[in-house]
Amino acid sequence: MTHEHSPTGLPHYDLYIDGVWQPADNGQTFTVYDPATSQPIATCASATHSDVDRAVRAARAAFDHGPWPHTSPAQRAEILHAIADALEARNFELAEIESRDAGVPIRKTTYNDITLGLEILRGCAEMARKHPYEPLPWNDLPSVSWNFVWRDPIGVCAQIIPWNYAFCMAAWKLGPALATGNTVVFKPSSLAPLSTLAIFQTIHDLNLLPKGVINLVLGPGGDVGEYLVTHPAVDKVAFTGSTEVGRKIMALAAPHIKRVTLELGGKNAMLILPDADLDLVVDGVLWGAFYHSGQLCEAGSRLLVPHALHDTLVERLVERVRGMRIGDPMDLETDIGPLISERQREKVEYYIAVGREEGATVVIGGGRPIGEAFANGYYVEPTIFTGVRPEMRIAREEIFGPVLSVIAYDEIGEAIRIANDSIYGLAASVWSRDLQHALSVARRIRAGTVWINEHHVLNPQAPFGGYRQSGFGREMGRYGLDEYTEVKHIHVDLMQRRQGRLWWDTLLPE
Ligand code: NAD
Repeated sequence: MTHEHSPTGLPHYDLYIDGVWQPADNGQTFTVYDPATSQPIATCASATHSDVDRAVRAARAAFDHGPWPHTSPAQRAEILHAIADALEARNFELAEIESRDAGVPIRKTTYNDITLGLEILRGCAEMARKHPYEPLPWNDLPSVSWNFVWRDPIGVCAQIIPWNYAFCMAAWKLGPALATGNTVVFKPSSLAPLSTLAIFQTIHDLNLLPKGVINLVLGPGGDVGEYLVTHPAVDKVAFTGSTEVGRKIMALAAPHIKRVTLELGGKNAMLILPDADLDLVVDGVLWGAFYHSGQLCEAGSRLLVPHALHDTLVERLVERVRGMRIGDPMDLETDIGPLISERQREKVEYYIAVGREEGATVVIGGGRPIGEAFANGYYVEPTIFTGVRPEMRIAREEIFGPVLSVIAYDEIGEAIRIANDSIYGLAASVWSRDLQHALSVARRIRAGTVWINEHHVLNPQAPFGGYRQSGFGREMGRYGLDEYTEVKHIHVDLMQRRQGRLWWDTLLPE
């Protein structure tokens, strides 16, 4: 049962196992809330361990005995394109679902998130067409042979995503897994599962995938997620979420030596060089820091600015933040929506208090917006701290909210050191009129993505992922596809003259 109304009058969604929507074994459910109003908007089945067992068994059977891993890449590509087309037909509806569920301003979901997710699905389809076979250079030693690499699917993949960017995240996990012939058990966050459910419903309605290829379990990470990760029949875990949970996932996956990819947190620097174009920088910093209220792993949360530009830049940023519209995420004019939950708001407010205690100065924001419209949502004002030193917690720890820490520097070597002095290494941006100089700085930054005069822009062809405790493995592009394959070397002997001999002397001149 899905899309039907539960006794509460809210839409209700079930688990999706072996091609069938079904309630949890024990009938348990949880409620999903609108973060802009704190009102319930849906109920979902909350999986038990036996539900997870059934989902993994279905994915296992679809991989071990089903046609999917042996379907040709071209056929898989056709199916992924058909899925993307069907989702595209629901573009506006999906944008609304995501905005209502996660508090993301509708401008962002309509014009970015859904489109990007679809581009990623289509990109995976196209790349997979050429993927499985890679010839190796001809070599007649140690024997005359034909050698190539064949990419096999890994098997059953557990895919776990966070609540932010859920539609895109689901697309960039399902896309490469399916394109390369794997089967999946998927778990979205309980805070924002609705766009993932819409994807699964669309795929179910299309009826193009064999049963058991994709399965969906819902429920708390510490229970359902953890049980899924440790399940012995799961071959790979692809996790996106906090570094704290990522550490746990790595340990949980160790006993069975599961393949693991981790996309984790960030404390990303926006490094302004002395010759930067300040008009561009002001727009770029607001976009980098406050897009989706800073609830993006690659958000620019540290602004490194030369002393000489500091006061002018801060003044201009403050003026622009004053003009930003905080409010209803469903309104196209809204710049800043609510945070995802009361818990997340408490975390952000805790860090604002920490910053004040550490001696940094709030030059704008720092509280909750006042007014009837904000009474029930989890809103926090966009906040800028100045006087931040690199050793302060607000300069080191991921806050995941609309809080920007401004750090002044004297010379560029110092700025690069500060940018790299982090347990994280997900992303950074460098701002300069001199592209040559900006490139030389970008090369010295230890992060998986470095933008020059830009921030946030994800490219479906380009790898995305972290250095250090921002995780390992890459998503998107050819690199993202590789993470879902095992590498097999095939050696075809062409000499056919072993003549009963066992060892390498076969190859020596007679
Ligand atoms: P989270 O780590 O709390 O949860 C992420 C997912 O893991 C959820 O589905 C959750 O239910 C599940 N989970 C929680 N505990 C688990 C456990 N013990 N075992 C298995 N699964 C478990 O993160 P969140 O609050 O949902 O998301 C915010 C975090 O995600 C931030 O740290 C952000 O930087 C990170 N993030 C990273 C990327 C990236 O690509 N690097 C992208 C988006 C978000």
